[in-house]
Amino acid sequence: MNAVAETAADRRWLHGALATLEQEAARSADTHLLRVDLPAFPGIRFYFKDEASHPTGSLKHRLARSLFLYALCNGRLHEGQIVIDASSGSTAISEAWFARLLGLRFKAVMPDCTAPGKIRAIRALGAECVLVPSAMDASAMARELATARGLCYLDQFGLAERATDWRGNNNIAESILAQMAREPDPEPAWIVCGAGTGGTSATLGRYLRYRRLDSRVCVAEPTGGAFATGWRSGCRDAVALAPTRVEGIGRRRVEPGFLFDVVDDVVEVDDADSIAGAWALEELLGRRYGGSSGTNLVACLELAARLRAQGRTGSIVSLLGDRGERYAETLFDPDWLTARGICLAPSLARLRAQLGIVAP
Ligand SMILES: *Cc1c(COP(=O)(O)O)cnc(C)c1O
Repeated sequence: MNAVAETAADRRWLHGALATLEQEAARSADTHLLRVDLPAFPGIRFYFKDEASHPTGSLKHRLARSLFLYALCNGRLHEGQIVIDASSGSTAISEAWFARLLGLRFKAVMPDCTAPGKIRAIRALGAECVLVPSAMDASAMARELATARGLCYLDQFGLAERATDWRGNNNIAESILAQMAREPDPEPAWIVCGAGTGGTSATLGRYLRYRRLDSRVCVAEPTGGAFATGWRSGCRDAVALAPTRVEGIGRRRVEPGFLFDVVDDVVEVDDADSIAGAWALEELLGRRYGGSSGTNLVACLELAARLRAQGRTGSIVSLLGDRGERYAETLFDPDWLTARGICLAPSLARLRAQLGIVAP
C-alpha cells in the first residue's frame, strides 16, 4: 500500500482496534500449569503448560494477538484491509478469530495436507483457506498476494520472534515462572518446547537470561527437522532431512525466528513416538492434545532419564501446544495411521511403562 497521510478517522479506527485487543486480553484467563509426578522419576516433577486452553485452542492465540498488535502499532493495518498469512493451520485459526474480532477479512495460505478439522475451524470463523501443494512455499505465496493486492501480511514466520515482548507483558516465559514460584523447585532444570516459527523458544531463552536464571531450554524436534540440523551444524541454510506428520513443528527450512544461540539442547523424536506421546497424554491427563505435545512429552522423559542417571532432581516444564480434537481424522484415527504405515504399539508400550500407565 502506498504511504498515504493518516486521517483522524484512521487514527480513531486504530485506537478502537487496540482497545478491542486489550479487552480481549482482559477477558482471557491465563493457561493452567498442570503438575504430574511419575513414580519412575523420584524427585523429578513434570509440569505441562496447557496452551490448548486458550479461546482458539493453541499457543498461537498468544502469537496472533502479538502479530495483530505489531501490525497495528507499525501502521501497517487499516480499517477494511484484508489480512493474510501462511500457516500450517493453528496460527490461521487464531488469526481468523482475531480478524473477526476486529471486523476484518482473513485469508490463510496453507499446505493441502493440513488436518481437515483445522480447515473447517478456519472456514467456520468466516475466513478463506487457500490450499497449496505441500512442496510449495506458502509464505512466499502469501507475501506475493499481499504485495500484489495491498493486503496486510501478518508474516508469522518472519515476525514471531520480534512481535512478542520477550521482557514480559505476560509472555509465556513470564507466565510459567510466575506459576512455578510456589513449587518445590521453582527454577526449572529444563523448559521443553517445539520450534515452528521459533517464537516460543526465542522468548523462553531470552527471558531466562534476562531474569538471570540457570534454567535451560530444549527444543523437541521431529527427527531430521531443520531446527535440529541447523542447530547442530550452526548453518542457517540447513534443510530438513525428513518430512514429519507432526503439524506446527519440524519445519523444512531454518525460519528467521530460529535463534540457535538461546537453545541449550535439541532432542529429536520419531513420528511414531510423538504420536504415541499424544495418545499417552490422553491416558495421563484425560484430554486429547496434538502431536507436538507428544513430541514434547517424549523429550521430557529423555531429559528426566538423564537427570535421574546423574542422580539429580528438579523440575521439567513443557508445553501442550494445541487440542487433540483437531487431529481426530488423522493422528487419532487408527485407519489413517495404518494407511501410512505408522505402528504405535511399541512406542505406546514403552511410554506407558515410563509413565506408570496400565494399558486400558
Ligand atoms: C506453532 C506451534 C508450535 C511451535 O511454536 P513456535 O512458537 O511457533 O515455535 C508447537 N506446537 C504447535 C501445535 C504449534 O502450532
